[in-house]
Amino acid sequence: MTSDSTNLRHVCGISGGKDSAALSIYMRDRVPNMEYFFCDTQKELPETYDFLARLEGYLGKPIARLNDERGFDHWLKVYGGYLPSSQMRWCTRQLKIKPFEKWVGDDNVISYVGIRADENRSGYVSTKPNIRAVFPFVEDGLIKEDIMRILEESGVGLPKYYEWRSRSGCYFCFYQRKIEWVGLRERHPDLYEKAMSYEKGSSEDASAFTWTQSESLAELAEPARVAEIRAKHEASASGAARMQANRRLVEVFAELGDSDGGERPCMQCHI
Ligand code: SF4
Repeated sequence: MTSDSTNLRHVCGISGGKDSAALSIYMRDRVPNMEYFFCDTQKELPETYDFLARLEGYLGKPIARLNDERGFDHWLKVYGGYLPSSQMRWCTRQLKIKPFEKWVGDDNVISYVGIRADENRSGYVSTKPNIRAVFPFVEDGLIKEDIMRILEESGVGLPKYYEWRSRSGCYFCFYQRKIEWVGLRERHPDLYEKAMSYEKGSSEDASAFTWTQSESLAELAEPARVAEIRAKHEASASGAARMQANRRLVEVFAELGDSDGGERPCMQCHI
């Protein structure tokens, strides 16, 4: 795959996850004029920003940070205090897709998307006629093992949050599993507190909305509840570990995001 026109922009979105990072590494020498971008909600994990810096070092050029200058808190007010959810995912629209489409403008663009050949999912495909999505890993038959090898051989490795979380995205992302909320509280208690404060704000709106189903983050942080979540996770993790005796934890988490069978998160955030 090569760059084919001076008027055509080639862009590669980095989500902070492993697949898009591997794609940027894979494309670096194939498309030298590639523009890399990251839609920054400014609510990302510190590990994600560290990973981007590492990736920039390998790519030898900056990853453009795209954001909506009004930010999450502005949009939360616009949406009446309702926290985003899988049913009402305004965050992706306002903080990821719109900034990307603004950055592209009316230019003709080829957008490289890191869906793998062993996945059965579709990526973000813009409805704008000037943006054409391509899927190099699908075209070239690259699967998860290839992605892990690309990251390792480049020296970039995996984002550090894979030690405790299976996906990239905002620290309060509602796609997190319970054990990942426990991990957030342990690794980043300040961010957990901030996520909790959003719940308080929304309950004043009489909607009693919470980030995670059926309980508030205050309830989830109760010692008995944390112990219960841990026990449940350890039981399923030890089953997985028996099957994957030689895998490092960081790799197991990196894989969970692909195979946990839960609801599919937004591709714009998590590829
Ligand atoms: S990572 Fe989660 S909370 Fe953040 S924009 Fe994406 S879907 Fe929304």
